[in-house]
Amino acid sequence: MPDNLEWKGQQCPIPLSQYPKIIMAHGSGGKLTRDLIHRMFEPILKNQYLDQGHDGAVLENPDARIVMTTDSHVIQPLFFPGSDIGKLSVFGTVNDLAMCGATPRWLSLSLIMEEGLEMETLWKVIQSIGEAAKESNIQIVTGDTKVIDRKGDGELLINTTGVGTLDHTQSVGPSEIRPGDKIILSGDIGRHGIAVLSSREGLSFETEIMSDCAPLHRIVLQLLENDIPIHCMRDCTRGGMATALVELADQSQTHFELREDVVPVNETVQGACELFGLDPFYVANEGRFVLFVPESSADKALELIHSHSEGKEAIVIGSVKEKPKGSVTAANAYGGRRILDLLTGDQLPRIC
Ligand code: MG
Repeated sequence: MPDNLEWKGQQCPIPLSQYPKIIMAHGSGGKLTRDLIHRMFEPILKNQYLDQGHDGAVLENPDARIVMTTDSHVIQPLFFPGSDIGKLSVFGTVNDLAMCGATPRWLSLSLIMEEGLEMETLWKVIQSIGEAAKESNIQIVTGDTKVIDRKGDGELLINTTGVGTLDHTQSVGPSEIRPGDKIILSGDIGRHGIAVLSSREGLSFETEIMSDCAPLHRIVLQLLENDIPIHCMRDCTRGGMATALVELADQSQTHFELREDVVPVNETVQGACELFGLDPFYVANEGRFVLFVPESSADKALELIHSHSEGKEAIVIGSVKEKPKGSVTAANAYGGRRILDLLTGDQLPRIC
């Protein structure tokens, strides 16, 4: 295929000789996803909201600041240890609102079902969505249902769009990250990815690994109520903690220096990662986030996060430096250092 294919006087920004078709890695959250977004979507769809480069868009309005975000959920299998696609599709969007410092308010729910989906499965998922919405204090106010032709076993895909309100005057986002900030991680990493992988592969470990899937708005709202000056937050979902940090270092044009040995990883998760040749820093989570606060507020922030069951293991994992801009390094206990970068391929596809 020629690279110079023209459409409406424009050339396709993705080299067609290399990628004539979409592959799984385009959905990994790594390099190929970033290429699609930065090279194809952004130049065409660019505006001041997308420029925020945040987990959601803060919409300015004379009376209130509104936050809007959207997420599609394509996880396989639909049920896995610790959670399911229903909870994930609510908490995932609630968490993106929370990462913007917003109170979750309203949610849309779009179900795309393949002909053949078991009615019992749908019933269980809808119940789960109801429970998760209640726990997140968010109302489902609109939705859509579509059925597509049968190609497989009766798949279910869910899109949710969330709207929240900013009930404070703080500005939270990648552009607020400053050298000197402490980086707090809210808990142990890698459980969601490994829980999904083990149920997909039919593997069992001595202790069952449960997904960390959980809503994060309660922690965030409590930090805000206590006037913690939050510079930025990001949930460590697809691509794991490393991908979230690499993106933020790039967006804030600062340097993050991490201490690899303090990052909490459950022993069974560590063992499973070694078995599959995965790096826990890049394995998906659904209830973990990184938080950037000035050093003077780090102890108080930690104390507040520790008071929540989903934040018991929160810890300072590093700090922000001025240079080298846009990079992340992790030092191990022996003084060795590695540079973290975006992955090109997909460690685990269809994880969220
Ligand atoms: Mg996010």
